[in-house]
Amino acid sequence: LGSSLRGTLDKLQGKTTLSEDDVEEIVKEIQRSLLSADVDVDLVMELSDSIRERALREEPPAGTTARDHVLKIVYEEMVGLVGESTDLPLKEQTIVLAGLQGSGKTTSAAKMAWWFSKKGLRPAVVQTDTFRPGAYEQAREMAERAEVDFYGDPDNDDPVDIARKGLAETEDADVHIVDTAGRHALEEELIEELEEIEDAVDPDRNLLVLDAAIGQGAKEQAERFDDAVGIDGVVITKLDGTAKGGGALAAVDQTDSSIAFLGTGEEVGDIERFEASGFISRLLGMGDLKQLSERVERAMAETQEEEDWDPEDLMKGEFTLRDMRKQMNAMNRMGPLDQVLDMIPGLGGGIKDQLPDDAMDMTQERLRDFEVIMDSMTEAELENPRAIGQSQIERIARGSGKEEETVRELLEQHKMMNRMMKQFQGMGDGDMQRMMKQ
Ligand code: GDP
Ligand code: MG
Repeated sequence: LGSSLRGTLDKLQGKTTLSEDDVEEIVKEIQRSLLSADVDVDLVMELSDSIRERALREEPPAGTTARDHVLKIVYEEMVGLVGESTDLPLKEQTIVLAGLQGSGKTTSAAKMAWWFSKKGLRPAVVQTDTFRPGAYEQAREMAERAEVDFYGDPDNDDPVDIARKGLAETEDADVHIVDTAGRHALEEELIEELEEIEDAVDPDRNLLVLDAAIGQGAKEQAERFDDAVGIDGVVITKLDGTAKGGGALAAVDQTDSSIAFLGTGEEVGDIERFEASGFISRLLGMGDLKQLSERVERAMAETQEEEDWDPEDLMKGEFTLRDMRKQMNAMNRMGPLDQVLDMIPGLGGGIKDQLPDDAMDMTQERLRDFEVIMDSMTEAELENPRAIGQSQIERIARGSGKEEETVRELLEQHKMMNRMMKQFQGMGDGDMQRMMKQ
């Protein structure tokens, strides 16, 4: 699905404005991806409306293609939908985990404790599930694996009492994570128990734990838990499976909260702090959307820079891929390299004859390929192309949809131009004068 979205977007390559049909096609592809990722239908429709409206109303800024511009809009609207990650200050706090049985609360409690311990805090897990046989043992073992403090009492059948005692017994810890019981369904009993625990421990945050496979049921669940204790954030578990967790967005929307953590496996270390761009890419089945969006911002900034571009800049400092790109863009406007070189004062015709023929062999098509390839590079790679190894070449080729061979050609081209620039830079003023006279 992601590839068909990419395909649709790629068809726009080269266009400077989008027709209503173009926009509609993109919106349809996004809808398809999101619905198959279990995102709530109403949310998908809202998102479609804003993308449609902005894509048709906003002009692509100078220096930006229509395709890149619409990608930026999609990314921004998606960030609006999934939200920022739940604010979790690294300090003393109590967190209660709520959710249905099997959603992953006990596992997440240990994982979160592990996560906080890696941040230098001292966490404790308090296990209050007296409902499920084996809950105590499971929580104790996981806390042990996470190497964090733990309290539970298999002989006590009063969860509220366990919660209260648990906080007191682990008072040396600074982050308390209170694991609660679930039920197969949202029974009144479960909700009451949760409310009483909440009263007893007075948490800073209540997090709702949801299985990534949760579909359209997320909204109702979220509403019940939110009414009972107030939900401040969501933990989505089991993202290592095939489910993409889009259903949880309805819970985020319903509770007006955000996503705190993602669970990506059964081990205590299998936890990630929620990060919008990765989650969005996963939902759309499309990589590097953040990078694409940043690239539009960069292009907007660079348009200004390029207008101030001076060929003489080439004579100073390290010749990076970014310089090469600027030069390529300038060449697009100013003409081929040999003419650009003519603009550098002090460079007579003589030196151009010493250049390898390849240096002049920059067809429009090659320039366009190189441009697309550079778009798939990171800032660090553009700045220091020497550090680009085989694995990066593979990634860049995949990201740009170009052959690895073409990526290597680009790097070769850069190396060659770099040598050339070094040669120019190595020439003192005297040499320049002499050359000018020739
Ligand atoms: P609880 O009933 O809400 O406490 O859920 P548990 O923490 O006991 O988890 C239920 C099952 O899901 C267990 O078998 C866990 O190992 C598994 N589980 C929890 N989180 C994840 C996850 O992120 N990935 C995978 N693959 N399994 C998970
Ligand atoms: Mg449990």
